[in-house]
Amino acid sequence: MLKITPYLGIMVLIVSLGGIFYPKLGYFLLLVFATLMIIAPFRGRWFCGNLCPRGSFVDFWLSPLSRKLEIPSILRSMWIRVPIFIVLMGFMVFRIVQTQGAVDKIGMVFVTICLLTTSVAILFGVAIAPRAWCSFCPMGTLQRVAGRGRYMLRVDKEKCIDCGKCQKVCPMQLPVNEILDKPDCIKCARCVEACPKDALSF
Ligand code: SF4
Ligand code: SF4
Ligand code: SF4
Repeated sequence: MLKITPYLGIMVLIVSLGGIFYPKLGYFLLLVFATLMIIAPFRGRWFCGNLCPRGSFVDFWLSPLSRKLEIPSILRSMWIRVPIFIVLMGFMVFRIVQTQGAVDKIGMVFVTICLLTTSVAILFGVAIAPRAWCSFCPMGTLQRVAGRGRYMLRVDKEKCIDCGKCQKVCPMQLPVNEILDKPDCIKCARCVEACPKDALSF
């Protein structure tokens, strides 16, 4: 299975910081958006756990600095996620319209979005948990809606001994071994690898 690597996280710095000097780097966000939208209807939030550069950044680069506390459930609530989605997308569209089609200016809008969201991800990642931002990231929410019910984690309760090892490794802090719908599962498979009883599978 393809696994997220620390190297992907470099793209966050290249786009956020390099984009200030070379705004066309911002168009990388379009590639990210297109990729996740192609994958989501088949595999839900798989992109988040296996290919997202910011996912890599928070998992590997931010994790050593994080307090690793419990992610407050309010951050997963649609009452928070939908308004954030609307505000961020609205801001992006508004700024793009203002550029009147200038290529570099549009690129700078994407760079600004990347800088803004990366700053929030760092803030929440350090103060709470590495994947706190991924609990309400608009792109994660979009994949959740587009891919709900796809490529779900299966739990074999006959084999499960309730050891809790899967919960400990879950970056999204989900109730891994409970037979529940987990639409925010990012399909990273860390729980599958950690389970001593082969009770988890996709
Ligand atoms: S939730 Fe957003 S930042 Fe996190 S891995 Fe998914 S797309 Fe990337
Ligand atoms: S439930 Fe398993 S696959 Fe899903 S996010 Fe948690 S550790 Fe990853
Ligand atoms: S790691 Fe496996 S055996 Fe342990 S609680 Fe999770 S599913 Fe059950």
